[in-house]
Order: sequence, then C-alpha cells, then structure tokens
Amino acid sequence: MSTTRFDVLIVGSGPAGSFAALTLARQGARVALLDKAVFPRDKACGDLVGPRGLQLLADAGLLISGGLNVDDLVVVGPTGRRVRLPSATGCTYPGHGTTVTRTAFDALLRDSAIESGAVPFTGRANRPLEAEGRIDGYRTDAGDELRADFVIGADGATSHVAATAGLVETDKVLWGFAVRAYLNQPVELPVIVLWEQRRWRAFPGYGWIFPAADGGANVGLGIATRSKRSEGTGAVRMLPAFLGYLRALGLIDGATPEPSRRLGGWLKMGMIGTMPALDRILLVGDAAGLVNPLQGEGIAQAMGSGRAAADAILHAPGHSAESYRAALAEAHLPYHRIAAAAHATLVGRPIAVAAVGRALTFPGVGSALAGGWAILWNELLDGAPASRARTVAAAATSLGAGLTSRSHTARWFIGTLGRPR
Ligand SMILES: Cc1cc2nc3c(=O)[nH]c(=O)nc-3n(C[C@H](O)[C@H](O)[C@H](O)COP(=O)(O)OP(=O)(O)OC[C@H]3O[C@@H](n4cnc5c(N)ncnc54)[C@H](O)[C@@H]3O)c2cc1C
Repeated sequence: MSTTRFDVLIVGSGPAGSFAALTLARQGARVALLDKAVFPRDKACGDLVGPRGLQLLADAGLLISGGLNVDDLVVVGPTGRRVRLPSATGCTYPGHGTTVTRTAFDALLRDSAIESGAVPFTGRANRPLEAEGRIDGYRTDAGDELRADFVIGADGATSHVAATAGLVETDKVLWGFAVRAYLNQPVELPVIVLWEQRRWRAFPGYGWIFPAADGGANVGLGIATRSKRSEGTGAVRMLPAFLGYLRALGLIDGATPEPSRRLGGWLKMGMIGTMPALDRILLVGDAAGLVNPLQGEGIAQAMGSGRAAADAILHAPGHSAESYRAALAEAHLPYHRIAAAAHATLVGRPIAVAAVGRALTFPGVGSALAGGWAILWNELLDGAPASRARTVAAAATSLGAGLTSRSHTARWFIGTLGRPR
C-alpha cells in the first residue's frame, strides 16, 4: 500500500474531473486524478457537446479532433409536428455544438490534464480517510491511500464522494436514467422527440436521434423518475417501442439494422438535493446534479463547474466552498431554480406533459417561440445578443421565476445557495 499526499484529490476523470485537474495542474497545484475505469472508456451519452462546452474548450486551448459540428435542432411534438430551434452565435459562445464519441472526448480531456502535470491513478475510491474529523482522502480498491488538502468529487451522478461526505438528500434529487445506442444510418440534424405512448399520455422523458461523428446516428431514450429510481428501467424497456415510433415518423429508415452498443446511465438534474460544497469537499458536474432538467445536457456544466471549483481552490483557499457555491449560484441558479421546479411539477403528470408538448409544437406557436425556446432551454440567456429571441427567453425566465418563487424547489435553493441575483 502506498500513501501519498496532494494539494487536491480529484475522484473521477470525466469532463468535470479532468477539467478541474487541468485548471489546477496548469497553475502548479499537485493533483491526483483517480478513476475506477481504465481509459479510454465509453460513457452513455448523446455525444453532443453544446456551445458553452465548446467555448470552455476554446478558452482552455483544447481542440476536439474528429467531431461533427451541428447547429439547429428539431423538436418533434407528441402529435408528430416539428419545430426547428435555430442556433445563434452568442457574445460568449459559438453558434453551434459538436458531436464526438465520449471515448475520444473524455480521453482528450484526461490526457490534457495528465500532460499538464496531474498524476493519474486507476482504482475505485472506497473508504474515506479521516483526519481531525474531516474527510482527508480515500483508500482505493487498488490499495492506494490518497490524501489531500481538498477533495473534488467528480465521480458522476451516483457520486461516492457526495454520499460519504453526506452531501446528498437523495429523496429530493431529480433522478433520471437514459439509454443510448448507435445506428448505422446518417441523420441530418439533431432531433429531440416528445413521445406519447398513448394519446394524451406522455412518456415521462424524451428521446433523441443525433448525428454521430462517424456518419451514423446516436439514438436514445431518457426517463425522469424523481426519487423513484427503480422506474429508471423504463427507459431500457421502452427503447424498442420508441425505435418503432421513430420508424413510423420516418426518422429511422426501415432497412437500418438494429442499434448496437447499448449503454445506460443515471442523470442527476437541476441541482436540487445536493449541497455542492462543504468545508474542503467540492462536488462538480453530475456529482453536483448539474444536468439541465429540461433537455439533459451536462457536459458543459461539468467542465464549467470543474473550472469553477479549481478557481475557488486556487484563488480562495480559505473559503473555497463558499466561493464555489457562489460561482455555481451565479452561473446556474437563475435557470435551474425554474427548470427544476417545472421538472418536479411535471413528472408523474402525463396529461400535463402531453399538453405542454402539444402547445409548444402547435402550428404557429412553436415557430413563434423557437428562437427564445432555443436560448432558454439550452441555458444560453446569459451571453445571448439582443434580439427578439432573447427578449422572448428573458420574458419567459421572468415569468418562470415569478411562478416558481414559492415552490419547494425555490425554498430549497434559497436555503442552500441563497437567493439568485
Ligand atoms: C444516456 C445519456 C445521454 C446523455 N447525453 C448528453 C449529451 O448529448 N450532451 C451532454 O452535454 N450531456 C449528456 N448527458 C449527460 C453527460 O453525460 C454528463 O452530464 C457528463 O458525463 C458529466 O460529466 P462528469 O465528469 O460529471 O461525470 P462522468 O462523465 O459520469 O464521469 C465520472 C467518472 O467518475 C468515475 N467514477 C465513478 N465512481 C468512482 C469511484 N468511486 N472511484 C473512482 N472513479 C469513479 C467514472 O468511472 C467516470 O469516469 C447524457 C447522459 C446520459 C446518461
């Protein structure tokens, strides 16, 4: 057994952990970057890195090779009507996203962190190591004892660090489960599908078919379960029926072979239920529950929070947890407190979800709202240039903030992160 002490131990080297490691190591911090997986490794994902994620990569001087740029996104409503959500260049982000396999993307980020000086370890963080009554590191199943002044939990939605540090109220979390597969068929634009299993009974989630970087498609289905995690199996069970629906819509060619490489994963959405930082433990990415509760994006939030946690440790070592919580609140609270409340209200109400889906894709309504919708649900309001679309998104945000201000969700956020600015 070897015991080593670092400035920062990062558990998990997905986008959140690797981005935190990269930021810290470039500033000279001694960083241990631990992951239970041997890299390169696959990860269940739609493989779409959004505009904010691309900007974070550009800011860090990183280039994705082998990605496929995508711009507009199509939403198919419950009746099959389609709305095209336009992408637009922002003041602080590009006007497109990129699809890239997570095997390649996550390896790129981790390799960059290691090249910058982070020390990689392979093993599962198991038993927390304590000193003076606080978590001081973890023992791994490979026999290493890794101790550090700060621990960053970047170990995904079901974070062991968050659990052992007592930072999750799991019954308050907005859980989801999604399964993806690959099809050998080209797709022109990313498509999100709101699906009714029966008329006026919406599936509690959504499905997608995105262009994949290799010329095929990434297809999947996600289900929202709130705290009833056993219902997550519904995504796997219903995937074949959903693929049949995509065939009926003409989005999958009847001659396309069955999908391959199915893989599922948990989503922890909307921040609620997780205290993101306390004392010298900081949670980033999915461990902090940062996935967008309305459309499932989490890569950009993972990288952004990894950078924010690293900055808090580097620039405010005496009060890094407070500083990081404030940074998260500023970046995400205006959107998440509304989106999380909307999500919590709609899960378990299939008729209401069907009504919302039908209204948003109703002839004339969808096209009138499309620009604002694209800004709002992609969390792009901050940095959106002045336009009619921005006005629509800002108005919807104000309305949403008013409507949800007395919700349980809003109260939890105020108690945990304070009032949004
Ligand atoms: C099916 C699906 C589709 C999705 N599609 C998209 C999409 O298209 N675009 C998007 O932006 N987001 C998408 N998301 C969300 C996105 O995948 C996550 O938000 C993102 O991966 C979060 O990054 P992370 O670094 O926080 O966690 P992860 O990427 O989950 O990385 C966590 C790492 O921690 C390691 N780990 C876990 N436990 C331990 C332990 N005890 N010890 C050591 N290591 C450990 C794991 O091996 C893993 O490498 C999707 C999610 C799912 C499930």
